[in-house]
Amino acid sequence: MSDTPLEIDCWDVGQGDCTVIKLPSAKLLIIDVGPRGSPLVDWLNERRHEPIRIEAIVLTHNDADHAGALPSIIMEHKSRIEGIWMLLDREVNAPHFQKIFRSALEGEHGGFYRIRRVENGQTLWEDETRQSRLHVIYPGFSQNIQATDPNETSGVIVLESGENRLVAWPGDLELRTASAVLASKPPWILIGPHHGGPSDYPTKAVRKRQSTDDLRNRMVELRAAVEALRASRAYISVGTKNRYHHPRPGYLRLLASQGARVVCSQLTFCCERERVHYNAHVLQGSALLGLGPARTGTSCRGSMRLFLRDGKLIPDEFDLVHIERVSELLRPQCLRGAGWSRGNPLPNFTA
Ligand SMILES: [Zn+2]
Ligand SMILES: [Zn+2]
Repeated sequence: MSDTPLEIDCWDVGQGDCTVIKLPSAKLLIIDVGPRGSPLVDWLNERRHEPIRIEAIVLTHNDADHAGALPSIIMEHKSRIEGIWMLLDREVNAPHFQKIFRSALEGEHGGFYRIRRVENGQTLWEDETRQSRLHVIYPGFSQNIQATDPNETSGVIVLESGENRLVAWPGDLELRTASAVLASKPPWILIGPHHGGPSDYPTKAVRKRQSTDDLRNRMVELRAAVEALRASRAYISVGTKNRYHHPRPGYLRLLASQGARVVCSQLTFCCERERVHYNAHVLQGSALLGLGPARTGTSCRGSMRLFLRDGKLIPDEFDLVHIERVSELLRPQCLRGAGWSRGNPLPNFTA
């Protein structure tokens, strides 16, 4: 395996998802680009004269919080892009789909790249020795065609090295589906799904409406789903004042009870109102890593960087600082997971 590590940056984009992976070739592979106003757009604009090449932009689905920044990126940077991967997640003629698709099409017509469909079995990247790879494991063609809403057909992308599955990006899939797709080989790090508010995790309102039996059954299923996922860590990319009440504290607790360490990009009301109110950042991961800051929200972990070297994932050096700061919060939802308690930072985070 080559000495150059893979650099995986989970960006703080507010409410939305965006991961920028720097490949050993120095080209970028981007999984979701975040919403309109995504810091990725500013970051690329500021580096207009640098020789940045984007090997691929992969959209898990075309919802605005994952794909909204695509039109701006295509408009300004299509000549730097070598491939776009997307899928059909709503009616072909739906205005929202057309908006994303047409902007992608502009670069294809210009001869800059080809658009390909996100579908299981596809390899997005593989290192020379075929040790490490990024590939798509969901959806299959039939699953994509039969899905009744965009989240249901979210692509699932995984980073694997040798026999190990290191990171999984299940987009906005339901928790039970994500678990079924990933359970045969659980990932070390799980992104989301759905900003910590998987749509099959009942909201307070739904809990009230549901019969006790239904609710109990659902909770048993969700617990089994998280158990099967066995993630050591979850990165929840979430916006401070999002309208959807993401993340659901119950889901974070479930992850933590199964041994996962939970890290959120931004601080939300479920952690602390005061700091949100005064926009007092816990840790500005983006600034520390030289990435663009999110235009909205109060960062908790902010952006997070992981390195893949010799088949092992190594987190950036700001984890411990973040834990220390989180312990000052009133109701820290972050890092409730195994091994951590107030004043007892974890000595080692390496996978
Ligand atoms: Zn979505
Ligand atoms: Zn989303």
